[in-house]
Amino acid sequence: MSDDHRSVVRRTPYPSSVSQPVVTPLSPSVVYRSVDADELDGHYEGRLTGYSYAREGHPNADVLAAKLAWLEGLTDSEPIGVVTSSGMAALSSVVLGLLRHGDRIVVGSQLYGRSLRLLGTDLARFGVETMMVDPGDRNAIAAAVDTSTTMVLVEVVSNPTLRVADVEALADRCRHHGALLVVDNTFTTPRMFRPFAHGADIVIHSVTKLLAGHADVTLGYAAARNPDLQASLGEAAVTWGLTPSPFDCWLAERGLHTFELRYDRAEQTAAALADALAQLDGVVRVLYPGRADHPDRDRADRLFGSRTGTVVSLELTGGRDDVNAFLRAAPSIAFAPTLGDVATTISHPASSSHRGVDPGERAQLGITEGLLRISVGIEDEELLIAELEEAVAAVASGAGSRISP
Ligand SMILES: *Cc1c(COP(=O)(O)O)cnc(C)c1O
Repeated sequence: MSDDHRSVVRRTPYPSSVSQPVVTPLSPSVVYRSVDADELDGHYEGRLTGYSYAREGHPNADVLAAKLAWLEGLTDSEPIGVVTSSGMAALSSVVLGLLRHGDRIVVGSQLYGRSLRLLGTDLARFGVETMMVDPGDRNAIAAAVDTSTTMVLVEVVSNPTLRVADVEALADRCRHHGALLVVDNTFTTPRMFRPFAHGADIVIHSVTKLLAGHADVTLGYAAARNPDLQASLGEAAVTWGLTPSPFDCWLAERGLHTFELRYDRAEQTAAALADALAQLDGVVRVLYPGRADHPDRDRADRLFGSRTGTVVSLELTGGRDDVNAFLRAAPSIAFAPTLGDVATTISHPASSSHRGVDPGERAQLGITEGLLRISVGIEDEELLIAELEEAVAAVASGAGSRISP
């Protein structure tokens, strides 16, 4: 055959090397070849380790899963969890892998909006009954969780009011009645709280937020300590098509390398910002788990030790006009409904995450028109605080409304 007819689509073996790259290689391959059918048998039967098809698993997902498992305190003898294509896909893997028609579940009343929709509305179509509970109310927990409960799902710190769940009571009740405790640890991250050490059976994450940390990748993670539970939710992720792309995993791994640094910096700034804002005229209240006036002070100390989080909520005196003026007076801070980015972002729950909640219920949750949530990034602390202080002052003096967007 002449060179002209040689196809470039030949299967050149990947170069073998005695040295290893220090950065995880990106493996976009969808399929993996085996030497023969016996080897493939060995792989499917679990005698040989390897990959076959990317939806079923690939090296970039496994490297990321192993790092997340380590952060959550799982040991080498425990499963490493599964990386999913989003935080919602992580929740879906748990639901699809572990629940069945007729199950009764109990969920925190202040979950992430889409999680509430999935668990509170969509699951009903599949015959799963969902009950909401205030996860900070010990009596309500005792009344809601009983022997008929299959699963309890909560976030540790509520969004945007930053109330702390009574994880001890929840874990106790779940253990006693044989219900699985699932904790969405997105907001808190393993730097602040490790749910497995407090009795959780399953931990889920939106890796999109602080863990990946750069607002450029959507990913999730779901881990169960028990290998059978992990197998069920892992299989569900593969079957229902909830597994991630190699490039997203690669990006998230890169982001994760600086997670601890980013977290610590943002937390330190958040604590200083909370104290600075609380001094200002025009601010009704500041909600921050690190402040002495936080309503769940003792519980936060017990669960989080010295950790206080990277999110600060504040309530301005006025309504929508003052909120708009405040946002326009802080032009370098993105008004965007996310959290955990390297850059500080501000969100307005009444018009974003909680716009679908009726105003009466919103008021009951403490989510007023003047409430803003600040997800603190890694910017220079002094500059950030100065900009936000000036924005509050601009509103208080009425100047804010004169600043054009
Ligand atoms: C963002 C978020 C989710 C959903 O994650 P996605 O990656 O956007 O699908 C779930 N739970 C919490 C607490 C979140 O903040």
